[in-house]
Amino acid sequence: MTTFDLPTATIPTPAVPAPVSIGNGPDTIDRVSGRIAASDKAMINARADVNQLLPLKYHWAWEKYLAGCNNHWMPTEVSMQADISLWQQPPGPAGLTEAERTMLLRNLGFFATAESLVANNIVLAVYRQLTNPECRQFLLRQAFEEAVHTHTFQYICTSLGLDEGELFNMYREIPSITEKDAWALQYTQHLEDPGFRTGTPETDQAFLRDLIAFYVIFEGMWFYTGFAQILSLGRRNKMVGIAEQYQYILRDESIHLNFGIDVINSIKQENPHLWTAEFQAEVRDMLTTACKLEIAYGRETMATQMLGLNAAQCEQYMHFITNRRCAQIGLAPVHPATDNPFPWMSEMMDLKKEKNFFETRVTEYQTGGGLSWD
Ligand code: MN
Ligand code: FE
Repeated sequence: MTTFDLPTATIPTPAVPAPVSIGNGPDTIDRVSGRIAASDKAMINARADVNQLLPLKYHWAWEKYLAGCNNHWMPTEVSMQADISLWQQPPGPAGLTEAERTMLLRNLGFFATAESLVANNIVLAVYRQLTNPECRQFLLRQAFEEAVHTHTFQYICTSLGLDEGELFNMYREIPSITEKDAWALQYTQHLEDPGFRTGTPETDQAFLRDLIAFYVIFEGMWFYTGFAQILSLGRRNKMVGIAEQYQYILRDESIHLNFGIDVINSIKQENPHLWTAEFQAEVRDMLTTACKLEIAYGRETMATQMLGLNAAQCEQYMHFITNRRCAQIGLAPVHPATDNPFPWMSEMMDLKKEKNFFETRVTEYQTGGGLSWD
């Protein structure tokens, strides 16, 4: 008997066709409805099968999934040798100044747990409520990228021999970091409740708040002071390994941010009743508060001027970023118009168009390259 002749199981047919569940949909297979069309798909509260990627409706989500895959990187591919030598120098002219060391540690301390907060929000809150397969495909990729980012902070901590307890407890022990994380957690805690479901204007708005808190504010505003600080070090040829890793993270995060903005704007477009004047005022307040929290973080990480940066410029930068985020989700600005005090930050982000990010890799990347079959 060949393997093709294995007995087949008899699959019982239910007498009554199973219904399609709504919202988190389907945990049963609909045997009677016709095939789905792209027009049946929706961002939230969709009745269309969440297991059918094709036909695509939201091509932008698929494009961002592909862009993420094309940007694959691992922190261990970046040499930490120069960073280790510099870090081991005593504070002073040959090494980093005390102020630069404090800034670096608090910067790392924020990111070390921030990436996990973002990942947990995706997996425990956002994924269940977004009822579109191409968006979920992106979320699966994003969740892995957040794991790569958390891995980066584990790798930096181990390479430099930092105190892991100090680094990974900063979100509990450094007030401006605690303030930011506690503010964001209030938007995910409610949605992490297994009983939470979108489907009413109140719960749909709660979901929008969570998306705005994490995509627009956490990833879109609160990462940017940190990026500016580390990239300033890198521009001065200090901690170049960490600076290179932050460039890769920044490139990933700019896709996460743009995905979040597209999701929010699509939900608004499909559910205009949610985007009331009252709700818009509330969101503008959220961004205003978030901007203040980030300014406080800038002050606590940089008590003095360093690297051509000071807390006042970080404040102006955050006003600029906050206005930009308002515009991206269709809101009036919350601050008077201001210039970007760090124009070189956009050059950092545009690098991906001009240079092969991986030209500094010591080994050619290959999937599975770390495995040995002997
Ligand atoms: Mn991240
Ligand atoms: Fe992210």
